[in-house]
Amino acid sequence: MSDADTIFSRIIRGEIPAHRVYEDQHVFAFLDINPLSEGHTLVIPKRPVALLHELPADEAAAIGRVLGRIAAAVVEAVGAAGYNVLQNNGAVAGQVVDHVHFHIIPRAADDGLGYRWNAQPVESDALAALADRLRARLS
Ligand code: 5GP
Repeated sequence: MSDADTIFSRIIRGEIPAHRVYEDQHVFAFLDINPLSEGHTLVIPKRPVALLHELPADEAAAIGRVLGRIAAAVVEAVGAAGYNVLQNNGAVAGQVVDHVHFHIIPRAADDGLGYRWNAQPVESDALAALADRLRARLS
């Protein structure tokens, strides 16, 4: 398990200023310093782990309990038409700060942000085999 003392831990401890929007026992939320749109908010666990699957289930659940509520507040405050929730794990996936974080990114029509990835169709047999392997790992 990673135990990265990143800039986000320093924000939680109050060593670096940030615009806090929510805090409880396990969760901290604050405005992104380089927002993709007005209201871009980061929701993070207080535990300093880099990857989502390293987070204990109850602390992941603590984020799940408030994520929608924070998103609703952000959307209402900035008058967004929708929002993306983005959560990057690993440098190859675009993660820069090695402390779990959920981006809430308010969206507006024609905001130019985009999001489309190049999905490719795959044979059903390949999906069935993969689902078998995953179920085996999850059982
Ligand atoms: P990632 O690319 O790791 O998913 O996103 C990291 C996010 O953290 C970026 O959106 C970046 O703007 C934000 N960020 C990095 N350093 C700071 C900081 O010191 N304060 C705040 N509020 N946000 C930060």
